[in-house]
Amino acid sequence: MSGRGGGPRPKAVNFSDLVERYGSEEKCRNYLTEIRWPDGVKCPRDGYGATWIGTRSVWECNKRSCGYQFTVRVGSVLQDSKLPLWKWFVAVFLMVESKKGISANQIRRMTGVTYKTAWFLTHRIRQAMVEAQGSRRLTGTVELDATYIGGKPRFRHKGKHGWDHKSKVPVLGAVERGGEIRLRVERNGESMGTYGQLMSKHVDPATARLYTDSAASFQGLSDKDTTHEHVNHAANEWVRGDVHTNTVESVWSLFKRSIVGSYHHLSTKHLDYYLDEFEWRFNNRHNDYLFRDTIKALIGSDVMTYKKLIERPA
Ligand SMILES: [Zn+2]
Repeated sequence: MSGRGGGPRPKAVNFSDLVERYGSEEKCRNYLTEIRWPDGVKCPRDGYGATWIGTRSVWECNKRSCGYQFTVRVGSVLQDSKLPLWKWFVAVFLMVESKKGISANQIRRMTGVTYKTAWFLTHRIRQAMVEAQGSRRLTGTVELDATYIGGKPRFRHKGKHGWDHKSKVPVLGAVERGGEIRLRVERNGESMGTYGQLMSKHVDPATARLYTDSAASFQGLSDKDTTHEHVNHAANEWVRGDVHTNTVESVWSLFKRSIVGSYHHLSTKHLDYYLDEFEWRFNNRHNDYLFRDTIKALIGSDVMTYKKLIERPA
């Protein structure tokens, strides 16, 4: 079945689908064209229709005074990449279908690109995930907690020049029961201030219930439409009826297992990116169209330069 007009595709993608449906440049290009311009290809400059020039593998604008020639990659994160589309597809497949994530090094080995290319590829795909994630705020019952990633516990301090990479990096998280998660690296650690920032960005002010442990940084979270209850871990209290933080704690253990499984040498410098990828997979755990939606995010995302990428604050 070659795509256009061929009826609905089966939703989930397995490895053999990947080879059959996206095993050539042409198949990938047709698929991208289909999801990018479902109502027919349009010139990105003026919105006119376009004609396929097979000899040059480009679309050409039908407006005579324009005549702009472009490919399906135009204006997307794929534009400044010369990498064959199928390698992008394989990388997306591996990233969304590997339950524990996949390192750039594994992508390098499996697709035969250089490490630098594999790293760039995975980081761009993650960036597309972040952009597609949207900004819906968590609501209902929300659990808040933090965990520490990397380093050794006894080095848990700030270095002279900001964060010491040998030390553990704090990650704050908010989890909506039965819903999505929002995680962020917080190099300033846990405090009323940093939880306040996490809440104002990711948690609906009208959230009914907030559950935490009894740490001091969770003081002052309740107001007229939000109740805040905590379990006292120090007194060995873990569950009191509906009140517990087991959901967020299971998210931490899942994340840690995925780091151990896939990133033996995880750099905490790039922890934000691993968290982004983890969030995307977790929040889409019931989405049967995740492969398609990630490809869609990629074709809809902004062009990101290598420079901009490596300048992202550590
Ligand atoms: Zn045009």
